[in-house]
Amino acid sequence: MSVRCDGFVFDLDGTVYLGESALPGSVEGIAELRRRGKRVLFVSNKPLEPRTKYAAKLTRLGIPTAAEDVITSGYVLGHYLAQHQPALRYYVIGEENLRTELRGHGLTILDELDGQDAQEVIDPQGIDAVVVAFDRTLDYRKLNTAYQALMRGAWFYATNGDKTCPMPGGAIPDAGGTIAALEAMTGRRLQLLAGKPSTLTMEVALDRLGLAAARCMMVGDRLETDILMGQNAGMLTAVALTGVSTLADVAAMATPPTFAIERLSELSALVE
Ligand SMILES: [Mg+2]
Repeated sequence: MSVRCDGFVFDLDGTVYLGESALPGSVEGIAELRRRGKRVLFVSNKPLEPRTKYAAKLTRLGIPTAAEDVITSGYVLGHYLAQHQPALRYYVIGEENLRTELRGHGLTILDELDGQDAQEVIDPQGIDAVVVAFDRTLDYRKLNTAYQALMRGAWFYATNGDKTCPMPGGAIPDAGGTIAALEAMTGRRLQLLAGKPSTLTMEVALDRLGLAAARCMMVGDRLETDILMGQNAGMLTAVALTGVSTLADVAAMATPPTFAIERLSELSALVE
């Protein structure tokens, strides 16, 4: 089976690399797709680092990449809000890199002092929208500020909903618990999720590729996020069996991905 495909969206962790090493076949596989003129974009759910950092890592691992060819959940949210709600004042439970990313989209982000005793408490009346993200400097003051703003009717958004973030030797709490805590406290529901498995990530990815969904392939190692998201967007999909999913998981799916591959160097032969 060979299908027409002009653009590829790659998940990073568990698909292109694992920790600090490129997975076998990914350097050659992506180089071959580019040599054939295919457009390539990389997606990360993490809002912690700027896009330049992922681009630099890929380049260091042998996959030369510009920051414009990487999207993070922070970028996706900023891109969306700049188009739809550019005039709001945003309060961010997140780290400074995320505030910088969102400001880069022209948004008004209220100042926050991570991990310091802020002298100036932000007035919740001045907050139009709360953005929740992975924040390793989360404290009671931030939760309270977000709570007060949400109780006054502020919009409730998040970059990503991951419960934990895998780390060498275990995992650490991610944004999912913070979202759940604020939902429990306020009785409200999150109104917009930017990262995977939200369709917003794929909309922004396809917009950046400038190609129709049917001519693009989502490649990732997680069936319930990467593959589902690609399928929902009407894209071709390939699960890379290099991360968390196995062939048995794939076989158990009602709608399996278009392809299951062991390494990214198999992709070129699968597409026209
Ligand atoms: Mg992954």
